[in-house]
Amino acid sequence: MTEVADQFTEERTGEVARISHWIDGQRVEGESGRSGPVFNPALGVQTGEVDFASAEEIDRAVQAANRAFESWRTVSLSRRTELFFRIRKLLDEHREDIARFLTAEHGKVLSDAKGEVARGLEVIEYCCGIPELLKGDFSEQASTGIDVYSIRQPLGVVAGITPFNFPAMVPMWMWAPAIACGNCFILKPSEKDPSASVYTAELLKEAGLPDGVFNVVHGNKVAVDAILEHPDVSAVSFVGSTPIARYVYETGTANGKRVQALGGAKNHMIVLPDADIDMAADAAVSAGYGSAGERCMAVSLLVAVGHAADDLIGAIQERLPKVKVGDGMDPDSEMGPLVTREHRDKVASYIDRGREEGATVVADGRETTPKGDGFWLGVSLLDHVKPEMDVYKDEIFGPVLGITRVDTYDEAVQLVNENPYGNGVAIFTRDGGVARRFQFDVKAGMVGVNVPIPVPVAYYSFGGWKSSLFGDLHIYGPEGIQFYTRGKVVTARWPDPATSKVDLGFPQTR
Ligand code: NAD
Repeated sequence: MTEVADQFTEERTGEVARISHWIDGQRVEGESGRSGPVFNPALGVQTGEVDFASAEEIDRAVQAANRAFESWRTVSLSRRTELFFRIRKLLDEHREDIARFLTAEHGKVLSDAKGEVARGLEVIEYCCGIPELLKGDFSEQASTGIDVYSIRQPLGVVAGITPFNFPAMVPMWMWAPAIACGNCFILKPSEKDPSASVYTAELLKEAGLPDGVFNVVHGNKVAVDAILEHPDVSAVSFVGSTPIARYVYETGTANGKRVQALGGAKNHMIVLPDADIDMAADAAVSAGYGSAGERCMAVSLLVAVGHAADDLIGAIQERLPKVKVGDGMDPDSEMGPLVTREHRDKVASYIDRGREEGATVVADGRETTPKGDGFWLGVSLLDHVKPEMDVYKDEIFGPVLGITRVDTYDEAVQLVNENPYGNGVAIFTRDGGVARRFQFDVKAGMVGVNVPIPVPVAYYSFGGWKSSLFGDLHIYGPEGIQFYTRGKVVTARWPDPATSKVDLGFPQTR
C-alpha cells in the first residue's frame, strides 16, 4: 500500500491525517505553520489537516519543475506515449482507490466518484496519442529549394488550480495534456479534498514519471497568488467559481501568463411541449441532484415551455421520494452530503429565500434530510422561479432545482442568452428542426439535445461562454493541446545530401 493509501486507512480509523505537499517526487511536509481541516462530509467529522503552502514553498516546487523541464522536454514522443500507456494502466488498476478518496472527502457516492475517474481516464487515453496530436504542417518547395514547416513546443512550467467538486477529473483535464506536451506541472488542488491529488502523484511516480514533472502544493489564496506572480510559471489553468476565475485571469495575464480560467454556471434545461416528458423528468432528476447538485454542468433550472410545465412537475414529483440520500460508501446511496457544513447551510437557505421571493416550494429538502452529523440536505424543487429572484440568478450549487415557466421557445432562448453564465444548456424536444435552430441560436459553450449534461468527450474541448470562461481556449481535447504548447515556424534551405551510409538494421524511432 502507498503512503497516501495508508493515510486513508488511518482516516477511516478516526485519526486526523496530515496531508502534505508533493515536490520533486516526494512528500514534503509544509513549513508555513498554516493548514486547513479536511472533513468526511457523510460523517461530519474532520479526517485530515492539509498543509498550506507559503510563497517560498511554491517557489521550491516551481524550481523543481524548472529543473525537470530541461530533460523532460527532450524525452521522445515514443517514450512519452509508452509512459502514458503505463500511467493509464496504473490509474485504471487503482480507479476504485482514487474514487474512495473522492467519496471520503467530497461526499459524492462511490458510483459517481468512479464515473468521475472514468471520465478523467478518457483524457489520459487521448494523451496516449500525443505524437499524432503534436504533428505540425509541412510545405515542400514553398520557394525554390526552400521548405517551411510548423512545430509545437511546450511552454515550460505550467500550473493548475482546481475546485472541490471534481478532485480527480479536473486535475486530469490539466496535468495529462500539459505533461504529454512536454511541460512540467504544479497542481494546487482544492483544500477541501486534496488527498486524491497526492495519491495520483504517487501513482505517476510508480508509473515512471521523472521526479519534478508533476508536483502538488496545497493551500488557499496565498498559494494561488504565489503561482500567479511567479516569473517562471508560463501558464495557468483554473477551474472554480466565477469571481475567482475572473481574478485569476486578470492577475495571471497581468503577470504575463497564458491563462484559461473556467468559472461557474447556471445551466438551463429547456423542455418543449412535444418533449418525451418521462425522459425529460428522468434527465432533470439525474442532472439536477446527481452529486448533490455540486457539478458545474448540473441542471439548476428547468425552463418549461407552454403546457410542458404541469406534466413535467408531476413526473419529477413522482421521482423525488425515490432518490436515496445517504453515505456515499453505501452502494444503495444515490446522492451524498454536501461538501461542508457552511455550504450545506448556504444551500438550504435558498429554500426560504425562494419562498420569500414568491417561488412555490414543491419539495423542501430539509424535510427529507438523513439523520446524523453529516452535511446532509435532501432534494428540493422550486416552481414559479422568476429571473429577478436570487434563486434564479445565483449559482446555488446544491440539490435545489428551480422551474421557470414561459410561453414560447423564443422566451426560453432569451432567458439563456441573457444569463451572465454560458456553460451548459440542454433542450428536450422531438423536433429536429427546432433542436437544430436551438444549437444555432443559443449562447452557451456546451449544448445538449435530449442530453442534460453535455460534457464533451475527451477528443473535443470543454468550456463555456460569457462569465463561465475567461480566456481564449477551452480545456482538454485539441484546444488543451494548443493551450499547453506554442507554435514555431521554420523556413529551411539545404544543400544536397553530402553523406549517406548502408545500415540493414530495422529503423528505430525511439
Ligand atoms: P472556488 O472558486 O472557491 O475555488 C477554486 C480554487 O480557487 C480552489 O483551489 C481554491 O483554493 C482557490 N481559491 C478560493 N478562493 C480563492 C481566492 N480568494 N483567491 C485565490 N484562489 C482562491 O470554487 P469551488 O467552490 O472549489 O468549486 C465550485 C465552483 O467551481 C462552482 O462555481 C462551479 O461551477 C465551478 N466549477 C466550474 C467548472 C467548469 O468547468 N466551468 C467545473 C467545476 C467547477
